[in-house]
Parts: sequence; C-alpha cells; structure tokens
Amino acid sequence: MSSTKPIHSRLQDIFTAMPGYDPHAVSVEQAQDIIGQFIQPLHITEQLPLRQSLGRVLAEDIVSAMNVPAHDNSAMDGFAFRGDDLPAIQDKQLRIVGTALAGRAYPGQTARDECIRITTGAVMPADCDTVIPQELVVASSDTHITIPAGKLRAGDNRRLTGEDLAAGKTVIRKGKILQPADLGLLASLGIAEASVQRRLRVAFFSTGDELRSLGEPLDEGCVYDSNRYTLYGMLTRLGCEAIDMGVVKDNPDALEAALCQACENADAIITSGGVSVGAADYTKEIMSKLGQVAFWSVAMRPGRPLAFGQIASNNKSAFLFGLPGNPVAVMVSFYFFARKALYQLMGAEAPSLPLIPATTVETIRKRPGRTEFQRGILTNTDNGELRVSVTGSQGSGILRSMSEANCIIVLRHDQNTVLSGEKVQVLLFDGLL
Ligand code: AMP
Ligand code: MG
Repeated sequence: MSSTKPIHSRLQDIFTAMPGYDPHAVSVEQAQDIIGQFIQPLHITEQLPLRQSLGRVLAEDIVSAMNVPAHDNSAMDGFAFRGDDLPAIQDKQLRIVGTALAGRAYPGQTARDECIRITTGAVMPADCDTVIPQELVVASSDTHITIPAGKLRAGDNRRLTGEDLAAGKTVIRKGKILQPADLGLLASLGIAEASVQRRLRVAFFSTGDELRSLGEPLDEGCVYDSNRYTLYGMLTRLGCEAIDMGVVKDNPDALEAALCQACENADAIITSGGVSVGAADYTKEIMSKLGQVAFWSVAMRPGRPLAFGQIASNNKSAFLFGLPGNPVAVMVSFYFFARKALYQLMGAEAPSLPLIPATTVETIRKRPGRTEFQRGILTNTDNGELRVSVTGSQGSGILRSMSEANCIIVLRHDQNTVLSGEKVQVLLFDGLL
C-alpha cells in the first residue's frame, strides 16, 4: 500500500504534480489526496497480551499454524453413524455401541448398522461421517435408535477439519484494527500475544485569548474551550494517546513554544483556531518557520481554513493539522481530513465509511462549488425506507447540532439544492463494533 507510493519529501512536489492546485480554492478531495500522499506510516511496534490488543493495529500478518477445528466433529447432539447406512425407503434401526463426548473421543471402530451417541463438538468417531440430531430420531431405547428414510444425506451435521481456519492460510492481515471477533479468532489459534503498532501520540491545543478552561471563571466576552473535549473524544475513539496541551494564547512566542513542545512529544499535532483568514499572520509565519506547512482555503462548509504539513524541533518531527476554531468545523475537519491521515500514520487500514442513500424529508439549500456537511437524523420507516432530516440551524458554532445528529449528510461539491423527497448521501456516526 504505502510502500508502492512515491515518497514526497516536500509538500511542494505534491502541489506541483497536481493539476489546477490553488491553495485558495482546494476541493475536499484534493486536500484528502494531498494529505494521503504526504503522510508516511510510522512503524513502531510492541507485543501485547491478547486482551490489551483490542482496538490496536495489527503489525504483522497472522498465519494459521493449525486447522480450526482440528478434527471433524459433530455440529449437533445426536447419533453418529456411517452415511452408507442411511435408509432410502424404509426407516432403519441402528445399534448404539458407544458414546463420544466433547473433549472425550470415542476410541473404537463403528461397524455397519451401528451408531455412537454424540454431543456437539465431539470428534467424529472413526468410520462415521453423518450425525442425526436427537430430535430427528424416530424411536429410541437404551440400546437402539430408529432413523427415518429420506430425511438426511451423508455428511450432514458434521463440521469439517479446518473449515473455520485452514492451516497455512493468512487469517488476519497486518493493518487491521483488532475487533472483538479478531481477538476470538486469535484465541482459537492458541495465540496469546499480538504484535501491534504502538499507540499514536497526538498532542492537541486550542488557541485564542477568549478561551477559558473548565474550572476557570468565564470572564466577559469569553467562552469555555470545547474543542479540546471533542478532540479528546475523537482521538480516544480512534485509539490514539491524546496529549492535552491546554489553551495557548494568541501570541507568537506562546504558539511557537507550544508547537515545539508538541513536536518533541507527539507523532502528530492538532491545533484549533487561529488559521482563518482574519487570524493574525504570525500563525502562518511560525508554522512555516518550523517546517513545511500549507495553508488552504478548502471549498467546504463548515470548515474552510486548514493548515497541514510537518514541522520539526530538536530533530523530532510531527505532522500538523491546523483546524479552524469553530466547534462544528473542528469536528468535521477532523473526521474528513485528520481521521484517515491518523489511521494512515498508524499503518492501519481506515475502517471504511460507507455513504448510505436516504430520502430527505425537507429541502436542503445548497449551491455548487463546495462540499457541505450537514448534521442529520436518520430514521427507518415501517416500510424500511431510510429518511433523514436536518438538525435545525447549521451554523458552524452550533455544537448542539453534532450532539443531536446521528449522521452527516454529505452534499457533494457539484451538487445543487436538494428537494424534499429526493435522495441524499449520509454517513452514519457510529459503527457497530
Ligand atoms: P478562530 O478560528 O480562532 O477565528 O475562531 C473561530 C470561532 O471559534 C471563534 O468564535 C472562537 O471563539 C471559536 N473557538 C475557537 N476555538 C474554540 C474552542 N477551543 N472552543 C470553543 N470555541 C472556540
Ligand atoms: Mg481565535
């Protein structure tokens, strides 16, 4: 994946190779593309006990050293017998000659017209290939059962050796974020530890003289810093180690010191605020002084100003995402730019985010020329139709819209106003696992 991609040491090379690149009018796709080309995965791994590797990125392919199940075994509680004993026309009596329990195999042979009492998961006795479930037995005594004609085929109710995992096959590829099922799968192979990528360290801070941290009095004209909390939540959900650096004042020295400190302690840095057009020019000056950083006006709403690049301090480097200050813009910019980049940095396959078509219950105004991310509530009607409504006012400062929403309505760059009853594409907030 990443190894086949040409390595760009400089952002400028990527811009030069991109037709129609204009920092003042970058499309969402262009920005995602540039970020994707520039990010290089980190490869720092550690060995963890299975339980602790939940949610971590697998660092090497897992190849099955054995068959799971290791033996043919019964899928049902019932009686095992030879498939060629199955009666075609008339019910048939079989003699019970032994018992096979899960974990305790029946050691003997099985002759024609004989059967073995068997429980689910017990190894199939020698010569037997078919199991009749208890409930299909026509009549039974302590010594005999009668099996019906025409109800079963040879091989029924038998689980085959290696049908779950075959020896020598790759079971899970590196880059997979380990899910509950993966832990179980590894356990079924007897694997007690996994080699995973170390957790990505992401430092984040907010900028703005008007910001107050929780616990501080809210002075006239000030607001509580909410971005550090949404960022903490999003980074933690992504499996990163979130390093909260607090609020940094609108002052060049403070910003430079914070960026340098972040750089020395983290793999990536996320800032919010101070990158908009009206913001003091020193942000640009300092970020540029510390490394290679692009300042974009992205054709999107909410969002728009975005700084991206890589900075260095004391021989340590970190990728930098300068997100806008408005609370909804921060979240949307994080989800659509930083999320995938951070996964890439972790060497992870970003879990896919399928866009789902839904019918909008109201007209959504939109003009072509920018991508819009409206907050929506998706519901399922009785006839199975997916419908979406917008969560009221869509101002980029209205964080409540994110909290109430269960999806984002993605209106494409070229898309026009969508009328009530038409289809839109939505992205669900939460996955199942
Ligand atoms: P800026 O991008 O710095 O011009 O900020 C844009 C708007 O977002 C302003 O109204 C800020 O007060 C607000 N804002 C910036 N950072 C935060 C934050 N961390 N928490 C809440 N609001 C913020
Ligand atoms: Mg500001």
